[in-house]
Amino acid sequence: MAADHPHAWAARAIRLLRDEARQHGPTPLHTLRLPGVPGIDLHLKDESAHPTGTLKHRLVRALFTYTLAAGAIQDSTPVLVATGGPVAVAAAHFARLLDLPCTAVVPPRTPAAALDRITAAGGDWQYAERPPAALQEETRALAEATGGHFLDHFTDAAPAVASCGDPTLADELFAQLRTTPHPLPAWLVTGAGTGATSATLGRHLHRHGHPTRLAVADPENSAYYPSWTTGYSGYATGMPSRIPGIGRPRVEPGFLPTAVDLVVPVPDPASVAALHWLHTAGFPAGPSTGTAFWAACHLAARMREKGVRGSIALVMGDGADPYRATYLDPAWLTARDLEPGPHRTTLDRFAATGEWAGA
Ligand SMILES: *Cc1c(COP(=O)(O)O)cnc(C)c1O
Repeated sequence: MAADHPHAWAARAIRLLRDEARQHGPTPLHTLRLPGVPGIDLHLKDESAHPTGTLKHRLVRALFTYTLAAGAIQDSTPVLVATGGPVAVAAAHFARLLDLPCTAVVPPRTPAAALDRITAAGGDWQYAERPPAALQEETRALAEATGGHFLDHFTDAAPAVASCGDPTLADELFAQLRTTPHPLPAWLVTGAGTGATSATLGRHLHRHGHPTRLAVADPENSAYYPSWTTGYSGYATGMPSRIPGIGRPRVEPGFLPTAVDLVVPVPDPASVAALHWLHTAGFPAGPSTGTAFWAACHLAARMREKGVRGSIALVMGDGADPYRATYLDPAWLTARDLEPGPHRTTLDRFAATGEWAGA
């Protein structure tokens, strides 16, 4: 009987994950038209609309499907993750759906609000005992000692998305763009954390032979920009990014440099200026969307200079809500030298005239 088959539980679990995706449907695509760049549409793929509020929801669902299909998670296997961020919240959400225990091993200085989000999604957390650089190893060892499975998003998110068989962010985005004036954008713009999202977009472009180019918007302290420009994958900055979710001190295994046409370095205060600009314009996005929006505006200004019409689609990785007391608070920004300063003027001028200061 099917119910006694050793794969029956995993098959049912995979079906639950698929139903979850179908139930919520595609995330919205918002369109922004600016007086300064007539004939150039900017689209925001709003990943804040996922039940756990970030694009990690999609990555973690693919990770679960991929891991279940490989037989590495079975009925009542404890699931462990090595982060206190949105991957932990999404992992807790899906573990609850599948009735599995989930523990996040979190760095000692994880904010209380982040821990609360993990608990609210049904997960447990515990503080890491070893230094932050050893977080993944510590979690892997803990999983081995407890018969659990370490869901390693830095190593496995990109292959999971590529092979889980579910519609990707790129599939959804291009289906939505079909009904717009420019169904094949001139550019796609995203940030890179694990690199899975940029790899997914790049693979889609290659597979379909689209003329669209892919730009990665990279914050300060990230290894992606220097490594992409030099071709040296061992590049390490040793410094954490200040833009949540994107920019890494080393090149993560999921980042696919050959799929990327351009990496745009974005100063952190410019990311903040763009975040505030979007907020004022009615798009409550998070900081990584600010970074992507800054790069997208720069690319739109170049299109205008060349007299090119078309569209640019960018990934809105999360929303503004978790950042009200931080990136949206002027005092918090001042204490960290992150004030938007003249970058805000650059954006206001660009939006009104299409001109890019200093370009
Ligand atoms: C993770 C993340 C990204 C980057 O996505 P990757 O697929 O990991 O490169 C962008 N924005 C936010 C808010 C994220 O959490």
